[in-house]
Amino acid sequence: MIHRLNQPDYDRWASQIKRTGGCLQPIHLRGKAEHYDQATGHLLHRYSTTQEPNGVLRVPCKTRRASRCPACAEVYRADTYQLVRAGLVGGKGVPETVSSHPCLFITLTAPSFGAVHVRREKNGKVLPCHARRDAQPCPHGIIRSCTERHSADDPRLGEPLCPDCYDYDGSVLFNAISPELWRRFTLALRRRFAKLNGLTVKALREHVSIAFAKVAEYQRRGVVHFHAVIRLDGPDGPHSPPPAWATADALTQAVQHAAAAVTAEVKPLSRTFRWGTQLDVRPITMNGDLTEQAVAAYIAKYATKAAECVGTLDRRIQPLDNLDALPIREHARHLIAACMRLGEHSGLAELRLTHWAHMLGFRGHFSTKSRHYSTTLGELRAAREEHMRAQEITTGRLPLFDEDAVLVVAHWAYAGQGLSAGEQLLAVAITGRRTPHLGGPDDR
Ligand SMILES: [Zn+2]
Ligand SMILES: [Zn+2]
Ligand SMILES: [Zn+2]
Repeated sequence: MIHRLNQPDYDRWASQIKRTGGCLQPIHLRGKAEHYDQATGHLLHRYSTTQEPNGVLRVPCKTRRASRCPACAEVYRADTYQLVRAGLVGGKGVPETVSSHPCLFITLTAPSFGAVHVRREKNGKVLPCHARRDAQPCPHGIIRSCTERHSADDPRLGEPLCPDCYDYDGSVLFNAISPELWRRFTLALRRRFAKLNGLTVKALREHVSIAFAKVAEYQRRGVVHFHAVIRLDGPDGPHSPPPAWATADALTQAVQHAAAAVTAEVKPLSRTFRWGTQLDVRPITMNGDLTEQAVAAYIAKYATKAAECVGTLDRRIQPLDNLDALPIREHARHLIAACMRLGEHSGLAELRLTHWAHMLGFRGHFSTKSRHYSTTLGELRAAREEHMRAQEITTGRLPLFDEDAVLVVAHWAYAGQGLSAGEQLLAVAITGRRTPHLGGPDDR
């Protein structure tokens, strides 16, 4: 820290850090950019990293994972919020009329793979975990009942009542197959919605398009479930209204049917998976129980969380890792072991379970949306970079050019990543951001 502070170019370093928004693992780039006048070939401006501290430019890592970089994850969370919200009320290129389109917020859950300790509340009261009168012991001698009212931070939450009875293989296979199950759900939903309105899927497309935005969330027991916004549009997406017969009620019926009907198979093991029976479907309204802000905030929050909330690792398992020695929850260890074991099975190669063992088998994208839902993260980023560029111009780093008349020749090379421990502390001081290990209530 003192070394960095005493550098003659400390001010320039600090301003680089400020521009990365407090990223704790910035990418270091070495290189140059040259701006030429296209008509005359004159060099108008040259930027090179040779003048920068350590000869590199530091740019944000842009991770979405809060456990790796809180600053970049916060940018991702805010962008996701804007993206989901634009799909509900308009903005960012989506017309405001979209708010009158029928729209649902649904949660698709995973089935049970064995009883786990849970915390359930009813009317503000915590209920007993698994109260069973006359509960019989399992083959391993464990009584299949738990009458405790678990506190919210009880480490046993999500842990099986009997680990020996728990279906770890089923749990990781479900995670691995869930993206396919989701895909089939969307197809079945379209089919059913068409049928309810007496149309073929092809004919439906001429009147209605169905837009999705979804996010995967890990439950404490280590399986993913999906939260999704489903919206009805006219044939041209958010810019066209759906016909009057395309109602939220009909969409709800189609969702319920599709969620119960679809299956996905893991053929080599003769296992068939379907969604859990707990399906939550609620209409999103501007002033009702479930507002567009609440939905956008909810989805955005989960977009920056990965499996680490289950107590697993936030990096890949390496071949030389000793699974028994890793600092992870026992339940996560069993799930990772199941991935590693099933990953050896040649018939399951396409599930890439070894590769995704640290994610407990899930290899899908955390947040995805259909093409018509709203704007894209890329467009939001481009808008922000444009803003940064405008700042550069006013602070004198880049001369103001006519975009179309200037040719930019740039060459960049990766030159490393990260900050030293001392630099991290300085970055926190400069930007007012927390470090991951200092944590906060949201990091649980
Ligand atoms: Zn970062
Ligand atoms: Zn319990
Ligand atoms: Zn048992």
